[in-house]
Amino acid sequence: MIRAFAAIALPDSVLDALACAQAELPVSRPTPEDNLHLTLVFLGDVPEVSLEEVHLAFSAIRAAPFELVLSGMGVFGGRKPRLVYAGVDHSDPLIHLQAKLDRAARSAGIEVERRRFTPHVTLAYLNAKRDDPLRIERAVAAQAGFRTAPFRVEGFGLYQSELGKGGARYRELAYYAFSPSESAVPKA
Ligand code: ATP
Ligand code: MG
Repeated sequence: MIRAFAAIALPDSVLDALACAQAELPVSRPTPEDNLHLTLVFLGDVPEVSLEEVHLAFSAIRAAPFELVLSGMGVFGGRKPRLVYAGVDHSDPLIHLQAKLDRAARSAGIEVERRRFTPHVTLAYLNAKRDDPLRIERAVAAQAGFRTAPFRVEGFGLYQSELGKGGARYRELAYYAFSPSESAVPKA
């Protein structure tokens, strides 16, 4: 079985901005800069043959490049804060892309969770024993104005996640580039 997910990788300028923002958070387990990403679909543990099917289905996805802005910061988990995230400005192309991946994964036989897509970049997982929710809440509030410059999304990746003691390690298994012509107005 391979633990896998699809995600958008972030350009270096955005990674740097996120790392700066993370440095202001009093958290014990910030996401390593190399691991920062925007998850589109979590596939879970899938047999290798199913992953081949997913790869075929993802390969057939057509989309045009689009722009994204990361903005805002928040905490998921309500009274039991679980993670700190950077938000994403609303983007129709992102929503459409995610829906395409979701359909593709299902068509490949993967039982994708029916949770509503909430685009985010995980900045840190919280530890109930080691992290102080109040301090974190204050630090997050102080960075409510966090905002990156717009960046272009030119494709998405299929990743393997290997869970280990030092946290998860991701490996890109495949990359699916968008084609600009998808947005071109058909010529008469
Ligand atoms: P770790 O599990 O060591 O805390 P991680 O969460 O980054 O690290 P994975 O659990 O393999 O590593 O998750 C890979 C990606 O998929 C992450 O973006 C994670 O947020 C997302 N993810 C994991 N589990 C789920 C889930 N049940 N539903 C939706 N997304 C998930
Ligand atoms: Mg996890």
